[in-house]
Amino acid sequence: MARIELTVDDIHELVSNVLLANGCDNANANAVARTVAAAERDGAESHGLFRVPGYVAALRSGRVRGNAQPRVEQKTAAFVHVDADQGFAPLALERGIPTLAESARSLGVALMTVTHSFHFAALWPEVEALADQQLAGIACVNYAAVMAPHGGQKAIFGTNPLAFAWPRPDRNPVVADMATSATARGELMLAKRAGRQVPPGNGLGPDGQPSTDPAAILEGVQLPFGGHKGSAIALLVELLAAAATGDSFSDELNDEVRDGGPPRGGEFVLALSPELLAGSESTRRSEAYLERFAAIPGVRLPGSRRHANRANTGPRSVDARLVEKIRSLG
Ligand code: NDP
Repeated sequence: MARIELTVDDIHELVSNVLLANGCDNANANAVARTVAAAERDGAESHGLFRVPGYVAALRSGRVRGNAQPRVEQKTAAFVHVDADQGFAPLALERGIPTLAESARSLGVALMTVTHSFHFAALWPEVEALADQQLAGIACVNYAAVMAPHGGQKAIFGTNPLAFAWPRPDRNPVVADMATSATARGELMLAKRAGRQVPPGNGLGPDGQPSTDPAAILEGVQLPFGGHKGSAIALLVELLAAAATGDSFSDELNDEVRDGGPPRGGEFVLALSPELLAGSESTRRSEAYLERFAAIPGVRLPGSRRHANRANTGPRSVDARLVEKIRSLG
């Protein structure tokens, strides 16, 4: 696959320009471009430039409002709601997080729900933004139904990612961000494009039989990681992201993503202040624990791969054909 080098700023400009040309206003185009450029900067390819044709498709089909004006409402002292106004999630999150963080800092814990948004990105930007303010964060979002529960063949879950971040003074936070499917859908798409098989356990083909062919799984159903345990976490994500926010369950959204863009849905974001909840010793104790964790041979903290990539300030090597395709959409 031909590659070219682009700086992170070039990537941001490429994405914001193509979104502006397809009906986004400045605020929305730049918020999405920040998540795409950050994904490429951190080596999270499945949520970088690869997603841009989908963002454009959703604008062109009219499903997503490129000039959405997210509305942030402090419903109670500990509860912030953001109505994303049928726009992409990044601007809604950027607008809501300062209010969420302020509530968590004063109360110890606070919740933000986001509704009527289209989430197509990784979740680490939102939890890492909380950790940057010395707060712990937990976030989850559902997706159109593409995954069967453990033991079944019918899709009722999205790939339902769940992320958390834990703050560390003067260091990168711990950030774990994972799909509850055995493999993220973006990774299956990349495997299909590269003509690679995937390991057993990722999904079933349209005939309901286990398959290692990503194309067959994309037409059939994905499976949760970890059997019944991952299936239970995917269920928790559905309940938090749909029932607790008031937005749609994944299986209520299935007709929505024919254009290849993101589905509409809800997001649940919890923020807490470990120091307010457990006292000033909390940070010293969690730091000592994380040191013991990372000292185990063969072990690394989640998020450390991305943070190591981020430390590289040079240009990024990206798929030349994809960049050509994105330029042609402008
Ligand atoms: P991975 O399986 O690649 O990684 C999951 C987490 O585990 C990461 O935090 C990663 O840290 C960490 N990790 C990986 N390997 C190790 C290791 N050896 N030791 C310790 N930690 C490790 O992620 P997925 O493929 O499941 O998900 C990819 C992305 O897809 C996520 O960002 C998710 O939010 C996104 N997604 C978005 C959806 C949406 O609807 N918006 C739907 C589904 C997924 P590190 O990053 O440092 O490697």
